[in-house]
Amino acid sequence: MTYKSGFVTVIGRPNVGKSTLVNNLVGEKINIISPRPQTTRNSIKAIYTEENGQIIFIDTPGIHQARNKLDKYMLEEAYSSLEGIDLIIFILDGSTYWGKNDQMIYDQIKNSKKDIIYVMNKIDKISNKELQKRQKKYTQKVGEEVIPISALNNKNIDTLLAEIFSYLPEGPQYYPEDMITDQIERFVFAELIREKIFYLTREEVPYGAAVLVEEVKERENEDYYIRANIYVEKKSHKGIIIGKNGKMIKKIGREARKEIEDLMQTKVYLDLWVKVLKNWRDKDNLMKRMGYK
Ligand code: GDP
Ligand code: MG
Repeated sequence: MTYKSGFVTVIGRPNVGKSTLVNNLVGEKINIISPRPQTTRNSIKAIYTEENGQIIFIDTPGIHQARNKLDKYMLEEAYSSLEGIDLIIFILDGSTYWGKNDQMIYDQIKNSKKDIIYVMNKIDKISNKELQKRQKKYTQKVGEEVIPISALNNKNIDTLLAEIFSYLPEGPQYYPEDMITDQIERFVFAELIREKIFYLTREEVPYGAAVLVEEVKERENEDYYIRANIYVEKKSHKGIIIGKNGKMIKKIGREARKEIEDLMQTKVYLDLWVKVLKNWRDKDNLMKRMGYK
């Protein structure tokens, strides 16, 4: 069997059950950025992996009715972030009716020329008879099959998954199966920091620095606290990275922080520590934690 994979976005008006569906599928609450450079405006919400494929759920910025110019701008941004996405899942609410927000989203995604799967959620709230009636109504609206599900009770999710895979192209397993998304996030931060070290110290720290993000915490004021250790093999390298009066480490921190803030779209506090660890490349445990196998 061919391996299929792709990037999927779940769209629908507020409270329709987008988060419930994605969280139930993957069993973990997450919200992270994408290491794929062309999708920096999107963030990976969750990854679903099975034997024959992988679905990467992408979170697009909030889609809502435009009330003013700023909203309109935001909306355009949201839809432009559909670039790079293989499939759209449009969720409708089976316990209510087609509303003007549904119509607006529908018009936009139709415009995008992407493949769309239509889903009617919350069917646990209605009778069988009602289900059939509403499914028919929604089908008439969108002109295509509408899959009834209950994200809350995991009803008909298998059908939905099969439908998703039928649309996805043949593709690689983008992420290791056992890589929890929190690790991906840390990996991306570490890479950004490493890049800055490399760029700012040039060849003075030859292959020398390994970066390990030890802690990522979203704080109450919604900014991020990130603590990372920079491992070098020699004491002299530590000196180079810290620089005179800590000038270099401050610069590395400042530049890495700016990029992370850009990705996360929020303020970040970056706490960097430099440690000497001889032959860190031989330290199995460290290598594993950094994502090297
Ligand atoms: P989102 O705004 O689209 O992400 O919606 P959420 O996933 O946050 O869900 C909004 C509310 O609807 C929550 O209270 C969920 O528990 C509820 N909900 C989601 N899916 C279902 C479902 O299949 N059945 C029922 N009865 N409630 C659901
Ligand atoms: Mg949500």
